[in-house]
Amino acid sequence: MIVCFDIGGTAIKGAVAHAAGDIRPVPRHPTPRDDFDAFVGVLRSVIHDAGGRPDCVALSIAGIIDPDTQCAVVANIPCIHGRPLKADLEAALGLPVLIANDADCFVLAEAGVGAGRGHRVVFGLILGTGIGGGLVIDGRLINAEGGFAGEWGHGPIAATEAGHPPVRLPRFTCGCGQEGCIDAICGARGLERLHHHLSGETLTSEEIVTGWTAGETQATRTIDVYVDVIASPLALVANVTGATIMPAGGGLANSDALLAEIDRTLRSRILRTFNRPLLVKAQCAIEPGLIGAALLGLSERPA
Ligand SMILES: [Zn+2]
Repeated sequence: MIVCFDIGGTAIKGAVAHAAGDIRPVPRHPTPRDDFDAFVGVLRSVIHDAGGRPDCVALSIAGIIDPDTQCAVVANIPCIHGRPLKADLEAALGLPVLIANDADCFVLAEAGVGAGRGHRVVFGLILGTGIGGGLVIDGRLINAEGGFAGEWGHGPIAATEAGHPPVRLPRFTCGCGQEGCIDAICGARGLERLHHHLSGETLTSEEIVTGWTAGETQATRTIDVYVDVIASPLALVANVTGATIMPAGGGLANSDALLAEIDRTLRSRILRTFNRPLLVKAQCAIEPGLIGAALLGLSERPA
């Protein structure tokens, strides 16, 4: 048995898992953002209520474990930010602790019980407010020890000319400190920035996608440029990883039409031929962080 948690900025969701098909959520708790002892207390109470000693505790966090320092980078939860979280929790709980990024947990969930079932190499991506991703091979998370693998959205790689006919694009500044990141032009906020740059209109990403599906001229132009920009780095990801399925989650992935358009363009730019969609909508819609953390615990728990 393992106990798993999805640690969010407002709530801690927990579950007790015996197997991939037996994951039982427990009532959620508010996240003690500024009090580490209270934070540990929430985890301890869920573990106590699970009855029996779990093999390990697995966490999904909205942040990253620095692979060099082992410290957590979780900006919206000050009491765990900057801590060697695994070591501190293992000392406090007296149990082995595994921690993974929420995008990585999303991919674990898709690989285990979602759209990636039956595939050896699954690259999952988040098309949300920002851009994220993760890689699972043979059911194992490549970032099981923390790290940045799968972060295809950052780095100065966005095209400076895109669309049909081509238009010159600025290199938008990204939250990571670089310019020209895919995150800065292809996340939901990036799409809005791109649309404003091309049309002068201020619309939400949902309005832009809806306008495109309705055939509106400005939105159609923006999505043409958007798909051209996002498809090339995704094609590179497919070539490098050998992924045979790429489940997508996040707000922009709610549009089947947008996913299909990106998929069509993506498949025209990779070396391998797929006569079926490669980029597909994620299936594990309910609590992917919690399910991914459960699968992390079940696959990586100490023997
Ligand atoms: Zn960036």
